Amino acid sequence: MSTVNSLLKERGLRITPTRKQVLEYFLEATCALSFQDLERKLSDKYDRVTIYRTLLCFLEVGIIQRIAIENGQRFLLRKNNINSHFTCEQCGNISGIETPLPPLPLPQGFVENTFILSIIGTCPNCSE
Ligand SMILES: [Zn+2]
Repeated sequence: MSTVNSLLKERGLRITPTRKQVLEYFLEATCALSFQDLERKLSDKYDRVTIYRTLLCFLEVGIIQRIAIENGQRFLLRKNNINSHFTCEQCGNISGIETPLPPLPLPQGFVENTFILSIIGTCPNCSE
């Protein structure tokens, strides 16, 4: 079975053409995608509501995860604990970073729940 089909089945999702194509796009993507990216790529085949519902469904079952950024949100495939993201100042691409974060000492009385790190710089494509 293809990766796409088995990923959908693993999460208990019925395999539909929209789900397959949205997931294929995520698997091919080298950086986090915006809803507009998905719309641009798939709007000739599916309406925006269908694309949006597919995105929500993937979020719900944990196939993808959301990254909150300054001017909106991006989505990427969920991997082991991506809680840092890197924004490239040159091309604007956002990538999930899987490097584990060292613990940050907090002032007394503060209890950590989630630790999200946002890094800004130059990606490998732009630093060549
Ligand atoms: Zn770049």
